[in-house]
Amino acid sequence: MKLIFLGPPGAGKGTQAQRIEQAFDIRQLSTGDMLRAAVAAETQVGKQAKDIMARGDLVPDAVVVGIISDRIDEADCANGFILDGFPRNVAQAEALDEMLVTKNIVLDGVIELAVDAEVLIGRILKRAAESEGGPREDDTEEALQHRLRVYEEQTAPVAEFYASKGILNTLDGMQDMDEVTRQIQAVLKEI
Ligand code: ADP
Repeated sequence: MKLIFLGPPGAGKGTQAQRIEQAFDIRQLSTGDMLRAAVAAETQVGKQAKDIMARGDLVPDAVVVGIISDRIDEADCANGFILDGFPRNVAQAEALDEMLVTKNIVLDGVIELAVDAEVLIGRILKRAAESEGGPREDDTEEALQHRLRVYEEQTAPVAEFYASKGILNTLDGMQDMDEVTRQIQAVLKEI
């Protein structure tokens, strides 16, 4: 099964993707996690991405498109994957379309978690305070406000892009986490 999870920072995408990864034996591919690993390892990509990520902007499309293209070619993705944090703008969604055609892969569905913007800041600042490795560099209130704005301006149109293809499923991400998981599984049974 090949899926995309969409939703603003703090919507619970990562948690839900991890649950579905285990239930369906498919890989969660988080571009945010991959980029943070590149920053920590001080690779070329990491050096390029570090400051951009810290302020909550998007790293260049070519970088993330290249990362995802290489990653889905790996053997552990043969059974399927969940793209978490990608595509994040319409140009990335178009690049993904082309890439999947070339690789002969068909997307099964897109799950969008809808959340009230006001609760997100509180959720993320709480998560940042509780996180074991210490807060992320982009979990300051300022960077967070910026990430939410970038989401509204650049990522929200990606939902429209998939709605027009008839593969968008929007769920209420404000519900209890187990209920959200249950609803995602119900959607996946239908596709
Ligand atoms: P969140 O959803 O909490 O904002 P992520 O871990 O998905 O966080 O992403 C963190 C940061 O990594 C983003 O703010 C951005 O700088 C960078 N990033 C992740 N995915 C992409 C992408 N597809 N395109 C461009 N930048 C990305």
